[in-house]
Amino acid sequence: MKALKFNQIWDVEIQEVEPLHCIEPDDVVVDIAVCGICGTDVGIITGSYPVAVPGTTLGHETTGVVAQVGSGVTRFQIGDRVVINPTYSCGHCRMCQTGNLNHCEMKLGTEAGVSYDGAFAEQYLAKEGYLIKLADHVSMEAASLTEPLSCTLTGVDKLGITHTNIRAAVAGSGPMGMLYLWALHERGVNAFMIEKNPNRVQFASQNLPAECRLYTDFAEALVKEYGDQAALIDLCVDTTGQLTEYVFDHLAPGGKLLNVALKDKHASLDILKIADKSLSVIGSIDSLNNSFERAYAMIRDRVIPADRLVSQVFDFEDYQQAFLTVGCDIAAKTQIPLSTPNCKVLLRLSDLK
Ligand SMILES: [Zn+2]
Ligand SMILES: [Zn+2]
Repeated sequence: MKALKFNQIWDVEIQEVEPLHCIEPDDVVVDIAVCGICGTDVGIITGSYPVAVPGTTLGHETTGVVAQVGSGVTRFQIGDRVVINPTYSCGHCRMCQTGNLNHCEMKLGTEAGVSYDGAFAEQYLAKEGYLIKLADHVSMEAASLTEPLSCTLTGVDKLGITHTNIRAAVAGSGPMGMLYLWALHERGVNAFMIEKNPNRVQFASQNLPAECRLYTDFAEALVKEYGDQAALIDLCVDTTGQLTEYVFDHLAPGGKLLNVALKDKHASLDILKIADKSLSVIGSIDSLNNSFERAYAMIRDRVIPADRLVSQVFDFEDYQQAFLTVGCDIAAKTQIPLSTPNCKVLLRLSDLK
């Protein structure tokens, strides 16, 4: 079968590898339908997120059809359409035992598609407990957003939202920003969005919840929303990693800043303000507390318009074109500005529907 292998920074290629087989009783081999491109994949290829093991098959936001089941598998049959939870946890290590399953010490630091083989491949070797069967009406494309939405719900959980009439913002209208905006909306919070890139703006402006506003500049947003660029806000989700200090200085007492950007960047924060204004600076990654199951249910029940957030689908062989769409020019080994309106970009591994 074919798989997209990470060799080293800026060196990825489709290779022919051995087909997969069930080994353990709870193994399930899935024929992949689609797999989404994530900022993690771009970070691995460009070297800005130096966590991947060389030789690993990338890709972790994925759906497909069960092709083989291990001897102990009872809940799935060959032909079942499934979404794959790529984030392993052992249940026994100190992190799992203290409720931090998303930081399991046995998942080799990261997850499928980073430190062990992922799903930019014709097949993926899954465990029965990490699959959800898709309802007939849920498309492979929409369900592939289950993983990023699951990460989003983990972050929203950490915000501990108790009031809906708060001043809230989401920075960055890539897939994570859009999912955060929709997930907050589902909690009754209408955040405004900040996005500078005109292509991101163009896509986002057509796919926001009706009540949400979009601005290219934070200070302008504060003036338009609250009449004053010194106005303070209660909550901000920063998916860009660029706004920590600016947002921190604009948090109201009790305010919360959630950073979900995997950026190698330092910020300077005033400790006095953290205590004196009861501020929270929070981080979040991966899935926790059944967020994966909850994310799937929200996509299934169309609470989140996942189909609409898929902007492009490319054939597997055209992976370089797909990565180019999100600003990752593999051939030229450089990152470039986005040149087309886009949000979540998928690779199609087969014509399975
Ligand atoms: Zn991801
Ligand atoms: Zn563990």
